[in-house]
Amino acid sequence: MQELHHFINGKLVAGTSGRFADVYNPALGEVVAKVPLASKAELDAAVASAAAVQPSWAATNPQRRARVLMEVVRLLHRDMDKLAEALSREHGKTLPDAAGDVQRGLEVVEFCIGAPHLLKGEYTDSAGPGIDMYSMRQPLGVAAGITPFNFPAMIPLWKMAPAIACGNAFILKPSERDPSVPLMLAQIFQEAGLPDGILQVVNGDKEAVDAILDNETIQAIGFVGSTPIAHYIYSRGCAAGKRVQCFGGAKNHMIVMPDADMDQAADALVGAGYGAAGERCMAISVAVPVGDETADRLIEKLVPRIEKLKVGPYTAGKDVDYGPVVTAAAKANIERLVQSGVDQGAKLVVDGRNFRLQGYENGYFVGPHLFDHVTRDMDIYKTEIFGPVLSTVRAKSYEEALSYAMDHEYGNGTAIFTRDGDTARDFAQRINIGMVGINVPIPVPLAYHTFGGWKKSGFGDLNQHGPDAFRFYTRTKTVTARWPSGIKEGSAFSIPVME
Ligand code: NAD
Repeated sequence: MQELHHFINGKLVAGTSGRFADVYNPALGEVVAKVPLASKAELDAAVASAAAVQPSWAATNPQRRARVLMEVVRLLHRDMDKLAEALSREHGKTLPDAAGDVQRGLEVVEFCIGAPHLLKGEYTDSAGPGIDMYSMRQPLGVAAGITPFNFPAMIPLWKMAPAIACGNAFILKPSERDPSVPLMLAQIFQEAGLPDGILQVVNGDKEAVDAILDNETIQAIGFVGSTPIAHYIYSRGCAAGKRVQCFGGAKNHMIVMPDADMDQAADALVGAGYGAAGERCMAISVAVPVGDETADRLIEKLVPRIEKLKVGPYTAGKDVDYGPVVTAAAKANIERLVQSGVDQGAKLVVDGRNFRLQGYENGYFVGPHLFDHVTRDMDIYKTEIFGPVLSTVRAKSYEEALSYAMDHEYGNGTAIFTRDGDTARDFAQRINIGMVGINVPIPVPLAYHTFGGWKKSGFGDLNQHGPDAFRFYTRTKTVTARWPSGIKEGSAFSIPVME
């Protein structure tokens, strides 16, 4: 049994709390490793050592910091296959999908290589008589990231790369479900020349998260995970005076207009609904065809595509469309919700309940499900299922379809499939959701734009990656300067105003 470590001060170190969590290979349902769960004392010690080295990293010029990231990009490419393998083993997603997970993180590292430009301040010459004014972006000190299981490469990289590029030290508390890849990433940063202590990986559960919230040295927390935990961390972190951004769960609707290309819409729904077993915060979980005729045409196209899906372990190669879900508990939760859909009157058009995979009977595989005639009051509509379950809600009109997406408590992503530019534009303008696709089912913005949901999918006022990340991980200082030759005689007692 492999025993995993923390990564502290440039070294893998054993946990000392005596507490461990099991890490599974979800395709086999077998424990493959044990991960240490840090105590408050271990977390505090890691933060103290990060704080000790952070000032010298902040004083390193941004171009040199960027060069470390350039090397990280090279090493990520070098180790792509190894990272994807380790990722699939603990998460269950297919190898091409795992490589995509690394790739989308790597692209944020590439963006952060622009740190020297992105950190430039503003300057106003002669803001007043003999007065110049300038602003600078300075690092916060020590920042922390708490990340979910479903993108164990991409989301840690989204957090650590900008934090480090800005001159902070960074403590990552990754998901305890698939901790191997975050540890490998930390070692890559180390190999790329990052000084010891600037990036620490502290494994753990609620105890480590609470220690992050209570630690007075930590200035900022970036969280991604489920909404109840996002809300908990946001409230407690803000109350402690920290800068906090928390990204939560989702229920993403895809509206299908009568004029849409129905084959394209069906292909898009199958990929976005069932890819990664539906364990993506940008997965489409609700299809909203407009009009019964559109709904009937869509279902007719969807059913054979869904019935053809190949579910299997990542080791079966590229032919597998999606793998197991992450844990036995996740599987049981999906099965419970599917049953509630049946009990509450939705029509189960594709029934994946009896799915079995020979040789993998202990794995956490879930067959694909398609529901039709889902209504607002059903649990499968209200809840984030995070599994291979697509619900169809029939809308009578575009306005009604829009209202489904608008009224839902989550606001991460959404999409519309139509050939009509007017409708598409209206949708993009009016929808109260953070990321919108027009004939694009998973509109995850590229690294140089920002990523973030609205409503209960996001807490805090800045998004992840792109220019917002450089704002989140720095604070602005504004300097007003006048040299003695510009100073007039005497004291001023009223608020200075421009002459
Ligand atoms: P999760 O909320 O269970 O865990 C996320 C992190 O919080 C982990 O590091 C975990 O150790 C920690 N945590 C769990 N329970 C805690 C508790 N009681 N107190 C303190 N910390 C706790 O989420 P998950 O199951 O790992 O990930 C799936 C969720 O993440 C889904 O809801 C998905 O939509 C969401 N997600 C959102 C985005 C986004 O950008 N909005 C991206 C990816 C995933």
